[in-house]
Amino acid sequence: MTIKPWFPTLIYEARLERGGDTSLRRALLEDSYKVRAHDRAGRRWCEKNYPAGYTSYASLSHLHRTFSTFMDLEKKIRPHVLRFARRLDMNLGSGKLQMTDCWVSVMSRHAAHSLHLHPLSVVSGTFYLAAPRGCSRLRFEDPRLDKTMGAPPKKADCRAENRQQVFYDVEPGKLILFESWLRHEVAPNPTRGDRVSVSFNYDWV
Ligand code: FE
Repeated sequence: MTIKPWFPTLIYEARLERGGDTSLRRALLEDSYKVRAHDRAGRRWCEKNYPAGYTSYASLSHLHRTFSTFMDLEKKIRPHVLRFARRLDMNLGSGKLQMTDCWVSVMSRHAAHSLHLHPLSVVSGTFYLAAPRGCSRLRFEDPRLDKTMGAPPKKADCRAENRQQVFYDVEPGKLILFESWLRHEVAPNPTRGDRVSVSFNYDWV
């Protein structure tokens, strides 16, 4: 008898900072608050759509083209995206993966990010700038969950590959990459301090 796990879902995790150099992250954090301070339209959008938080997703989503700090971040992220694509055996042909969107999210206390995916992109991810102890984790959901219909639930101690959800702890300096179709969410943030992150999409162009 042979049973093999086919069709796995891969999630990539890495630390971007080498040798304790946190200067880029600190500069990005400072710029993130500057973006929020200057983005009146974005703050207005968030009042309706992102209570207790700020995201530049709907207003300034090309930060990698306008801020040198975010340009530097893209240069650091790119090799990881390419490594992830190689691991996924993506055949890019004459095309390439290119960052198309890059935005910042400041999740203050009680801010939440409901279940979503990143349509039309290939690889998406987040780099964490600030993550107070006890802040909300990043939750991923089995992409086949909507097809299980009459299936029984999984055992509490089920094998890793049979889990239907997985939580990633977030830490300053951590990078998480996933395929853009993978649904994910962030529960309401319980911490008094802000949970600040930069999210992005890479498209096949
Ligand atoms: Fe997302």
